[in-house]
Amino acid sequence: MSNAPDRVGVLIVDDEPGIRQGLQRVLDPMGYRVVSAENGRQALDLVSREAVSIVLLDLQLPDVNGMEILRAICRDYPHMVVIIITGFATVQAAAEAMRSGAYDLLPKPFEPDQLRIAINRASEKMFLEKEARLLQQEKLRTLADLSLEKSRTHTIIDALPIGVLVTNANGEGVLFNPTFARYMGLPPTATAGGPLKDYIEDEGLRRLTQEFSQGCHIGTDDSPTYEFNFGEDKYLFARGRPVMDEQGQCVGAVVTIVDITAMKVLDRLKREFVAKVSHELRSPLSTIHEQLAVVLSDLVGQVSPADEHLLSRAKEKTQGLIALIGDLLDLSRIESGIVCEAPRAVQLEELLENIISFLNTKAAIKNQTIHILRPAAHVPPVKADPLALESIFGNLITNAIHYTPEGGRIEIRLKPFDAHLEVEVRDTGIGIEARHLEKIFERFYRVKNEQTRRIDGTGLGLPIVKGLIEALDGRIEVTSTPGAGSTFKVVLPIDRAP
Ligand code: ADP
Repeated sequence: MSNAPDRVGVLIVDDEPGIRQGLQRVLDPMGYRVVSAENGRQALDLVSREAVSIVLLDLQLPDVNGMEILRAICRDYPHMVVIIITGFATVQAAAEAMRSGAYDLLPKPFEPDQLRIAINRASEKMFLEKEARLLQQEKLRTLADLSLEKSRTHTIIDALPIGVLVTNANGEGVLFNPTFARYMGLPPTATAGGPLKDYIEDEGLRRLTQEFSQGCHIGTDDSPTYEFNFGEDKYLFARGRPVMDEQGQCVGAVVTIVDITAMKVLDRLKREFVAKVSHELRSPLSTIHEQLAVVLSDLVGQVSPADEHLLSRAKEKTQGLIALIGDLLDLSRIESGIVCEAPRAVQLEELLENIISFLNTKAAIKNQTIHILRPAAHVPPVKADPLALESIFGNLITNAIHYTPEGGRIEIRLKPFDAHLEVEVRDTGIGIEARHLEKIFERFYRVKNEQTRRIDGTGLGLPIVKGLIEALDGRIEVTSTPGAGSTFKVVLPIDRAP
């Protein structure tokens, strides 16, 4: 292989003009750019000025020892390839030349072909070395780019105002930013590495991080979030995402944490405001309602039917407002934790019968029937506040009546299970579409459609029910088929006291 087309520069260093010309005659047709020197001084001068890549060097020079020229070239121009051409090629001289950095040795006299082979080999070595150097430079540049990119990413993550934690598939932290360290109460010098419990105190957050790191919740649209306290008055909100590699394997997770203290404080202030306003409005509204009732009964037959209708509507509206205020006050009591403070053993069957006897009149107007389905076994008492239970089942059965058309059937099933009692309130009513099921427990949420349009309500009943059940350490679930009916399942802890 010849790399001569690049016009590689070859320097011939020999004091014999015949040899110089002979070499040039061989090299010219090979496409090399040839320069010649007849002594060591000229040789050093030419290598400093000309772009020389290969040197053919005679060791016997008139002015300087060729070996010194060889050493000078190898020291100052390490990329030059030197081939020794000498008529005194003793083994010792050859070995010393090679040790000093010569690439090859051609003992004189040599054939043109031998020269061609040596030159081509040198040229190839030079070419390969150049390639290797370029590759090395490229690699260094890529590494430099990478480390620049990495430090840029680090800078961005470090500057984020939200806490960021990155874990590996074992659920060990591999990186977190200063905001995360601050939220977790870690010293600013803390670094990631090792098990989560070393830097996350909150058990729930540790569990969530583990789950994400191990690939749970992949592909779910609404992956779980987590709200927790840090210290007395800091509220934090965590969200996670599994990190997938190119093969779709989970390789860890990114968990972000936001400080929601300000939102919480605002929410509390809003609730306090609503509670205060509701409280202030309750008495005057009740007075207006009672006075309207008196006026209405006094004026029966003395005013026009239209006026009487107006007054009745006003009375109904004040009744609605009083109910709304009652619900708001109940909610604020539940939220501030001042209900269900002293739970005790309650026989639910009795309590349900009382509620039903009270609501039967309402159901009868719509030709509905209400039944309690008891299990064969004894129903143990639940541990709860009876007033809270009345509110829970009163609301659920009232809803069943409201949202079930004429002639419907309402069933209440009691099923004891280990430490819990399940109570299902089933109806054959209008049902609820799946997309509303989660939302109906939010404050003021009402399903708006043609069937619910004429049914009055505040949208506060189910949030109250849920709040009370949670205060009793129970839970509520709902299943529903639009057009066929709904089932609200309440699970309450059984009273185990002797
Ligand atoms: P309200 O009944 O005052 O509107 P709730 O909080 O009790 O408020 O209920 C919220 C919504 O859930 C209702 O507006 C209604 O659309 C739906 N809902 C509740 N119970 C039932 C039920 N048994 N059947 C059908 N829909 C219901």
